Amino acid sequence: MSYSVRGEEPIVVEALKMRALPEGSYDRLLEFLTLYRDGVQMVVDRVWSINDKLSKKKLHKLFYNNLVSMGFKAHHAKEIYMYAKSLVKSAKSNGGKKPVLRKLSARVDRYDYKLDLDNMVLTLKLHNSYEARLKLVSSKERVEKFRGWGNYELVVKYEDGEFWVSIYFKRIVKVAKPRTVMSIDLNFDNITIAVFSFNGKLIKLKRFKTPHRKILTHRIWVERIQKRYSRSWRFVKGVKKAIDRHGERIRSISWDYAHKVGDLVAELASKHNSIIVLEDLDKLRENNKRGRKFNKRLGLWFYRRIQFCVEYEARERNLEVVRINPRGTSSKCPTCGGKLVECGHRALRCRKCGFVGDRDAIAVMNIYKKYVSKYSRCGVPGVSLNAPKPDENPSGMQGKRDDVMKNIKLYKLI
Ligand SMILES: [Zn+2]
Repeated sequence: MSYSVRGEEPIVVEALKMRALPEGSYDRLLEFLTLYRDGVQMVVDRVWSINDKLSKKKLHKLFYNNLVSMGFKAHHAKEIYMYAKSLVKSAKSNGGKKPVLRKLSARVDRYDYKLDLDNMVLTLKLHNSYEARLKLVSSKERVEKFRGWGNYELVVKYEDGEFWVSIYFKRIVKVAKPRTVMSIDLNFDNITIAVFSFNGKLIKLKRFKTPHRKILTHRIWVERIQKRYSRSWRFVKGVKKAIDRHGERIRSISWDYAHKVGDLVAELASKHNSIIVLEDLDKLRENNKRGRKFNKRLGLWFYRRIQFCVEYEARERNLEVVRINPRGTSSKCPTCGGKLVECGHRALRCRKCGFVGDRDAIAVMNIYKKYVSKYSRCGVPGVSLNAPKPDENPSGMQGKRDDVMKNIKLYKLI
């Protein structure tokens, strides 16, 4: 699956590969595939010797008439020279040899096929105005997924005596208008997730432990081994193996965790119809003072991995994800913007207004506030957390210290 962005609306592209059984004789279809391969090879051979960059217009001028005289339709010709050009380009950029085509396969534009998914029949327009009808073989469930999607191209292949068709489907992801905001804070020990309404009420607060300490333990082992065998660890088999084993553990712990969290977060966001707000990790590097938040030893790769999984799962559920600059999110008071100082275990206090709160909870509040102040627009009420309404429980994150501590319940799930 791949995503691309056209304007504001992301497009999802996915291919459906199916066996295809020709109705009647398949001589014409084989003839078409062979002719197609020869056509592509002919263009490859000529483009290979031309070192200039060839525009589409130039390719058309050079090859169109030639290909049509071989019996191809207009769109066949276009597919052939564009495909040949991409083959040459990738071979040259890899420093490879001139491509020689052996396999029988053809890309066919949507103008040159008719797809009937109800009856699972594909009609292909071939050379010299021939046609081929193919029965498609696939389970109902696989095909059902693509109902309502558009399809724009297909590839037909002949492999070990069988025909295969890959149809390319696409759809525009319709992002639902969010009703809540989910802010996510990542730090060494915890991931904290908060869901807020657009008028500043806290709806949900969750905290998960990260496996960072476990990962760090493996890291420390690796470093210890490398130090002890500083000259030989690369070459001694047993030592190298021990290091690889720790590396393998780090990889599996981090991916397992990232997948689990991505799924959990997206599921919760989907339930609350949230827009997901993440910290922009690229901005983090620019902010000179990173503080204690991100442990240098682990770098950012683990946070990136988690964000990748969150974003992937969110897209699958048609949820929007945005990023904000994390500057100040863990050092500023969420109600007055004053500087925060430490105040006991994991708690911070504002010097200016006396606000006291849990470190992680403060971070998610600040991330939420940043999102709202950056993106709030007509229709979405701007939010001010510094106008606490005492009767508005369980908004929790405002007001006096006791309320704050009482209302912030942090769950440990992992
Ligand atoms: Zn304050």
